[in-house]
Amino acid sequence: MKKALSVPVLMYHHVSSHKGALVTITPENFESHAKFLSDNGYKTLSLDEFLAFKKGELELPKKSALITFDDGWIDNYLVAYRILKKYSLKAAIFVVTDWVERASEDKRASDEIYIPNHREGKKLAYEEPASAVVNWDDLEKMRDVFDFASHSNAHDNEELGMDEWRDDLALSKSHIKAHGGNTKHLCWPRGNYTPELIDLARSLGFEALYTTKRGVNLADNDTSEIKRISVKDKDAKWLKGALRLYSSPILGGLYARFKR
Ligand SMILES: [Zn+2]
Repeated sequence: MKKALSVPVLMYHHVSSHKGALVTITPENFESHAKFLSDNGYKTLSLDEFLAFKKGELELPKKSALITFDDGWIDNYLVAYRILKKYSLKAAIFVVTDWVERASEDKRASDEIYIPNHREGKKLAYEEPASAVVNWDDLEKMRDVFDFASHSNAHDNEELGMDEWRDDLALSKSHIKAHGGNTKHLCWPRGNYTPELIDLARSLGFEALYTTKRGVNLADNDTSEIKRISVKDKDAKWLKGALRLYSSPILGGLYARFKR
């Protein structure tokens, strides 16, 4: 019998030199991750390759991983993109479509802009998105590396009722579609969702739903709660251990259950 494979999904947010900032990895450590994946022959997947694997339609090499970025911060374009490209890796960005829309209305002066840390970025994303998040042109330029898909339209959605959620997700999907992104994948903002929201997202045509829960991803045709590993601001030694753990259906499954 073929040994079951679990594909680790890595979750990044910021790559910048704001060392110690929330959900941020330094360019040095990020490059160490990229180099490790490249040197060790990892296949980094597109969103649809990952989906095909989950559905049992695509066989993958043992060393496979999906790299994801949440929120679409400007450092993904200014820093992470260059490093991923250097090592010929693929990745995906889950963008907050309202931020991208509004960032695209203002012209950015140059690429030499200040890179905000997470706290600053969260504020700027609402007040002055062009200086905090990627715009549609950036996403177009990065197509050789990045797929992009929805992270909702408004991101801070806790108070929304079901009808408002429906409007938010449908609008986000139409923005993604209009700009040629991938409309089958959705990453829940803040990792919050309910069984009702899963049904709603599916009824709108989102097939693969990404969580912030850690765990293993098997070819079991269940795409409603994709597990991810929140990366640490550590070098490739850490990554190597995390990949080894979450490539193993048994070890990764046990670890995710006991380590909360
Ligand atoms: Zn987010």
